[in-house]
Amino acid sequence: MAEEARRIAVREVHNFGGFFGGDTVTLTAVQVGAPDEEFTLTIDQQALANVRDRHTICAGMLLDLTLAGDRVDRAELLAAASHAELRAALGPAALDPRLEAAQILSFSCAACGLWVAGAPRDGRCPVCGAALGSA
Ligand SMILES: [Zn+2]
Repeated sequence: MAEEARRIAVREVHNFGGFFGGDTVTLTAVQVGAPDEEFTLTIDQQALANVRDRHTICAGMLLDLTLAGDRVDRAELLAAASHAELRAALGPAALDPRLEAAQILSFSCAACGLWVAGAPRDGRCPVCGAALGSA
């Protein structure tokens, strides 16, 4: 089955599955760039690439999905509405023990209004592409 990549914004988290349904999180989301078309999606805990606990998924988060048909194969957290939400979902930062300079673990982008995981790429926000720090 062909894989499809999709970037989504979480609108609302409905429930967290357990017991018989497997470890899942069910949410309403929109595809980035198509904010009027809400859809409901269930993501398996195993599909969460960089989120340790599905209970930390919340509204306002941005996820990159790899879909195989209707199933989510992989979901990677890109950004969240607040630093606390982003950090809670990503867990303790893995710091390079040989680190000598400050390492950017996440940053706030004024253009997209989100806390973005990781460092800017070439001075730009990897989510929206806005140039950072030159204002
Ligand atoms: Zn941005």
